[in-house]
Amino acid sequence: MKKLTLITNTSYVVGCENDHHYLLKNGQVAFRGNEIVFVGRDYPAKPGEIDEIIDAKGGIVIPGLINLHCHVAASPVEKGFLEDLGSPTMYMTGLYEYLRVTHLAPEDQMNVLQFSLGDIMVRGSTTIFELGLGSPEMVEAIGQTGIRAYIGLMARAGVFMTKDGFKPYYEWDEPNAFKRLEETLRRRDQYDGSFDGRIHIGLYPGQVDTCTPDYLDEVARVMRDNPKMPLAIHAAQTINEYNRIVQLYGMTPAHFLAEHGIIGPQVQLGHYIMPCGHSLNRLKLKGELELLAKTGTNVIHCPWSYARRGMIMESLQKYLDLGINVALGTDTFTQDMIFEMKCAAVCCKIAENGDPFTGTAAEVFNAATIAGAKALGRDDLGRLQPGAKADIVIVRTDNFDCMPLRDPIKVLVYSASSHDIGRVIVDGQTLVQDGKVLRGDQEKMYHDMQKAGERMWKNVPNRDYKGRTADQISPFSFPLR
Ligand SMILES: [Zn+2]
Repeated sequence: MKKLTLITNTSYVVGCENDHHYLLKNGQVAFRGNEIVFVGRDYPAKPGEIDEIIDAKGGIVIPGLINLHCHVAASPVEKGFLEDLGSPTMYMTGLYEYLRVTHLAPEDQMNVLQFSLGDIMVRGSTTIFELGLGSPEMVEAIGQTGIRAYIGLMARAGVFMTKDGFKPYYEWDEPNAFKRLEETLRRRDQYDGSFDGRIHIGLYPGQVDTCTPDYLDEVARVMRDNPKMPLAIHAAQTINEYNRIVQLYGMTPAHFLAEHGIIGPQVQLGHYIMPCGHSLNRLKLKGELELLAKTGTNVIHCPWSYARRGMIMESLQKYLDLGINVALGTDTFTQDMIFEMKCAAVCCKIAENGDPFTGTAAEVFNAATIAGAKALGRDDLGRLQPGAKADIVIVRTDNFDCMPLRDPIKVLVYSASSHDIGRVIVDGQTLVQDGKVLRGDQEKMYHDMQKAGERMWKNVPNRDYKGRTADQISPFSFPLR
């Protein structure tokens, strides 16, 4: 018989029934092995049945958060460098001018990956969709942390950059994309369902503008043949990309992808933040968001990486009201889903001209849980109910953030921070306790990350199209003495 664990002494348990969360005051959660067997009060334990009792000390018990868009082996190194920065000739995106510059040294990739996974887990994500290189070494390392992960190997036909600072430039290698797609399937055969079923391989053809029509047709064929492999692709992420697709094909990125079969519930569009109707997009093509709603195509919203450049979705509420399944991701940094929920809610109210009734705590919490699970085709994640996986987060309330505690979801979204997370359980295993990762050395993660940053900053002139230093591109906030 597998071990039975009972979580007790809670203030609230966020339970779930028929895809809808509910609040259970002073509830309990019991799980056997990796599966939840009870959500309610007064668990009817047989004598000697309970192997472990977790005292939640008045905490809020929520389902593990689902973070569907992250780049664990690349992004966090941009912290402290890419803020207050953008390309004025490219609608203020940093993608073409700076993504190349913040490239990690190969010897730092695994360390940054370890740092990211620690960062992501202590902040409450229990399932991630990692969009990156997906080498066997990385897949193994992700599996060993204990997190649940969908891992995409970037398989794209082109790479974007700028050579002059004002126009995007693409280098193409279509055969390599086909090769990487085959490699994805080999990786799937090798790793899908490994690490006790926590590791899955997904499709990740990069970005809508780095794929050719022929290649997308092939990706769509592979997707149809493998209905359990979710597909993630960036689309409508910059105005430059959007205009390029319209100029090349005469249609919106959504319609272009649909024309090549990349549409429907298996597809996760990263960002899709500036469709026609957005204040930065002056094109007037019709039926774009309606197409995503009608086909059940998912949008993965990562509000903070845009909001800190002053750009927001207009609006989350509009997408939801149309019936689009919107899930959340952390994209770059910080890798904090509590903060993403906060940001999604607040940006929505701003986009709706100051309407506090939009982008509610309930809606963003759904996006971080149920909607994420739906995008993965999973009805056993993002919820606390019997039969679901034991992916559970306990948020501490014995602090300034959470008192007084009336509505735990509002408190979580608007007042709490990820530092209030005490325990994170994935697949029945406690991975974070008292806010610290149990597998891996957190001090070493900080140290390794600093080293990776220093190497990256030093290498900036070698990768910048103008040979500028890190300090020339991104001056310190105050004079450095
Ligand atoms: Zn991304």
